[in-house]
This record gives sequence, structure tokens and C-alpha cells, in this order.
Amino acid sequence: MARTGFYPGSFDPVTYGHLDIITRAAQLFDRLIIAIGTHHEKKTLLPVEVRARILEDALRPIMERTDCEISLARFSCLTVDAARRAGAKFIVRGLRDGSDFDYEVRMAQMNAALAHDLDTVFLAASPSSRMIASSLIKQIAAMGGDISQFVPMEAAEALKAALAAREDG
Ligand code: ADP
Repeated sequence: MARTGFYPGSFDPVTYGHLDIITRAAQLFDRLIIAIGTHHEKKTLLPVEVRARILEDALRPIMERTDCEISLARFSCLTVDAARRAGAKFIVRGLRDGSDFDYEVRMAQMNAALAHDLDTVFLAASPSSRMIASSLIKQIAAMGGDISQFVPMEAAEALKAALAAREDG
């Protein structure tokens, strides 16, 4: 039976940290679904269509290098329900530091209580990308900092445009 992983996140925007987790998770699973959560839509800077387009472009080279079948999805329901609907048995999450650990383990235990048939697989962030957080990237971009080493070019451009539009509006 195909082993399917489900990697949920806001991806506002996708960073090299997320892409590192995706690349490594692709080695563990036959199928991997990258799922953009749209339930906290109001709090995101980039619209879901833009986040999806950037992710799609960023996933292409990873797809070319792996046997894993990677696909993109959106969901606005509970993560466990979306994972089940996608046919996944595993939720994939990344761990950067102690605060990720505290939050992520609590989420994993809650998800396990809600769905006994699902388990969460954690991948420790790689040393080179463990300081990258979408929220920090947005703050740096808003102050005019160079974020090109943390996110794909398309993400940097989309952030710049969204921040400029916010200032105009
Ligand atoms: P959420 O809104 O669920 O926090 P994110 O897109 O910020 O969504 O993160 C999705 C997952 O990716 C989380 O498990 C988070 O810990 C992980 N993650 C985010 N940035 C990194 C990084 N630099 N390295 C490894 N994992 C990361």
C-alpha cells in the first residue's frame, strides 16, 4: 500500500525551510500532499492563489528529482479531516526549536486524540534553515531587508508587491 504523507501549513510564503522539509519527506513517502490551510485566511499577507502559485513553481524541481508523487492541495477544515480525505496516514511537521516542539507536540497529541488512525512525523530543521520563519521573513521584507537567501525569488517578489499594495491602500 502506498505510504502517504500530508504536510500542512500556511506557506505565507513558502521558504527554503519548508522546501527542505518537503525534499526530505519525499524520501520517506510514496505520496506527499503539500496542503495550504486557508482557514486563517485573514491573517495571511499573500492570497491563497499567490501562495499556491509560488509553491507550485518551487515544487517543480523537487518533483523532478524524486520518485515520490508530490501534489498540492488546499483545505479549510480540520487538518485530520483533510489528511484523511487525502488518504494520508501521516501528518508531516518541521521542528526548529523548543517553541516549535512545545506547540507541535501538543498539536500532534490533539490530532492523535481526534484521529487514532493518523500519526505525526517530525523532521528536525536542517541547521542551514532552522532560523527561517515566514513571519520573520515578512518583517524583514517590510523593513526593506534582503530575503533572497531565505525564500524563492517568486516569493520575495510577491511579498514586495503585497507590502507595496498595503502601503498604497
Ligand atoms: P503554520 O501556519 O502551520 O505554522 P507554516 O507554514 O509556518 O504553517 O509551517 C508549516 C510547518 O513547517 C510547521 O511544522 C513548521 O514548524 C515547519 N517549518 C516552518 N519553517 C521551517 C523551517 N525553517 N525549517 C523546518 N520546518 C519549518
